[in-house]
Amino acid sequence: MAAEFGAKVGIAEENYLGGTCVNVGCVPKKLFVYGSHFAEEFADAVAYGWSIEETSFDWALLRDNKNKEISRLNGIYERLLQNSNVEILSAHTQFLDHHTLTSNGTRVSAEKILIATGSTPFVPPIPGSEYAVTSNDMFYLDQLPERMTVVGGGYIAVEFAGIMNGLGVETNLVYRGSKFLRGFDQDIRRIVARELEKKGIQLQFNTTISKIEKHRKGVSLISDTRDTLETDLVLYATGRNPHVQSLGLVNTQIQTSATGAIVVDETYQTTATNVFALGDVIDRAQLTPVAIAEGLAFAQRQFNHQPGFVDYSAIPTCVFCQPNIGTVGPTEEEARNLYSQIEIFESTFKPMKHTMTGRNETTYMKLIVDSITDRLISAHMVGPEAGEIIQGFAVAITAGATKADMDRTIAIHPTTAEEFVTMRDPRSN
Ligand code: NDP
Repeated sequence: MAAEFGAKVGIAEENYLGGTCVNVGCVPKKLFVYGSHFAEEFADAVAYGWSIEETSFDWALLRDNKNKEISRLNGIYERLLQNSNVEILSAHTQFLDHHTLTSNGTRVSAEKILIATGSTPFVPPIPGSEYAVTSNDMFYLDQLPERMTVVGGGYIAVEFAGIMNGLGVETNLVYRGSKFLRGFDQDIRRIVARELEKKGIQLQFNTTISKIEKHRKGVSLISDTRDTLETDLVLYATGRNPHVQSLGLVNTQIQTSATGAIVVDETYQTTATNVFALGDVIDRAQLTPVAIAEGLAFAQRQFNHQPGFVDYSAIPTCVFCQPNIGTVGPTEEEARNLYSQIEIFESTFKPMKHTMTGRNETTYMKLIVDSITDRLISAHMVGPEAGEIIQGFAVAITAGATKADMDRTIAIHPTTAEEFVTMRDPRSN
């Protein structure tokens, strides 16, 4: 975008173009989610008249096909940059001072420098933590384990637990608190826990792992209450830290916070006036579309004389666990604190597809409305394609839609999404 607005741009990337999302995040994860869901599709097809003889799964084929697709995307990114006349520096790059970088022995100077180095997986420093793998490793496993334990209770933990379970791996999820997915609506957290268990994922809450011991085949996870869990592979999905190591920040006046994130103002300016930072490295919302919005705002402001601000008030998000979580706006608990009077509309049902298959899967939808203004505050959902459905309602919320607007919207029948426009009676409490 900056190049389009006329700036002369260089980009330094020591790894792969496209960053975490394209290479070891959203994109390959979603491909794995698709891959893992086929087991249920095969089973469900029988009720629709298909006879499925024998199925088998080849991990190496899925992984390698995924790698091919990611290489294709890397190439597209490279061509996009080349077509915009962006110079690519394919080496580790550090600050020498505010205006000067060193990249593979070459000094590069720029009027403005943007840090968008993202984040890296955090593994708590317990004895044996070197035997844990992170999400980065999950995309390149030589072979699938028979048993797998995921430690953590956020996005990556529930997404990978679903992928591995779907691919036939005996999967446990261990979380330190009493209920995982902190920050999500309580009803969503409760229902997702139940749905994951129904699909065969073993959830173990209130468990803190204090040590990992390696064996010839697999590892033992020892909890602080001295219980032991044997597993073949342990994935730590315990958050991501801003990626600021070896950036040479010591040669600048760029400040970082207690969590290591680069401190910026609302224009993404760091404490060095010509240096800016955005995305995961500034520790706001660690979400690709938020980073893209920030990048666009930065380019507009710096190179196109536009104001360039990001509206962080209603960020929609989807957790690609199975079934998905889609959400936009505050949780019910947050809404009760933010608004003097709210109304809750909700619906729990079995998806139409499963009336034939008999699969015991629940879809849950919740709308929160400000009763004083009638404005829609939030939409939360657990169910197939929740992300696809919530995206549209995020537009409605951003545009300030009211419950009356929802009520006069004609439904699309038969769909799951229509439930959001046919909820007539608020919950009684
Ligand atoms: P999250 O912050 O979502 O979750 C981290 C989890 O690890 C929490 O359950 C946390 O527990 C737990 N945890 C943290 N420290 C420890 C510790 N020392 N010991 C045990 N457990 C610990 O991080 P993720 O790694 O799952 O993902 C990173 C970010 O990437 C996400 O926040 C999200 O923004 C982004 N992401 C987005 C996706 C999407 O949009 N679909 C997909 C994947 C990632 P507690 O809650 O108790 O603190």
